[in-house]
Amino acid sequence: MSALIEIADLYKEYKMETHVVSVLKGISLQIKKNEYVALMGPSGSGKSTLMNILGCLDTPTSGHYILNGIDVSGMQDVALPLVYAGVAKKERTETARLMLEKVHLGDRTHHKPNELSGGQCQRVAIARALVNNPSLILADEPTGNLDSATSAEIMEILDNIHKNGNTILLVTHEEDIAKHAERVIRLKDGMIA
Ligand code: ADP
Repeated sequence: MSALIEIADLYKEYKMETHVVSVLKGISLQIKKNEYVALMGPSGSGKSTLMNILGCLDTPTSGHYILNGIDVSGMQDVALPLVYAGVAKKERTETARLMLEKVHLGDRTHHKPNELSGGQCQRVAIARALVNNPSLILADEPTGNLDSATSAEIMEILDNIHKNGNTILLVTHEEDIAKHAERVIRLKDGMIA
């Protein structure tokens, strides 16, 4: 009933000069509101391609993508950030500060990106993703290149976001990270394994 994401028989092909590369070959899946799902699969299996389509950064070659009841299969750039939402500067600054506190960076509000560690940058990215109060978080390798202590911090933040009622789909190649999710979807060669 309350599927937030519903994709049906989704195909993605890239037309190269001499041949066509089939990346997604008939993917169908549903993700319900407030689910916590990990997407796994070998490198090249199509995880990022699928995430880009789910994030409306790319469109499928064929098939359907119903997001919150709306067929967005042909739409692009659906979500644009706060500035486009017409939020006033004072509220923007205040919301941004609150989000940085949420990811434990309240004391770094005046720091520049090059004054932050890799893990802190990752937390800023999460704060930025949360600033519009989204109901769906798509995280492609949120702990990629982080040491285990920082990874644990990032996952704690994502776990809390999920507890607060958000839907999360994360890509990971680490079984330990996938354990945070309630369900694992595995891709292989552009199909659900
Ligand atoms: P994963 O995230 O699972 O590693 P990707 O979705 O990045 O996999 O890539 C899946 C396949 O699609 C790879 O074989 C890759 O070479 C191919 N691919 C991805 N993007 C393009 C593109 N823009 N043009 C052609 N092939 C692409």
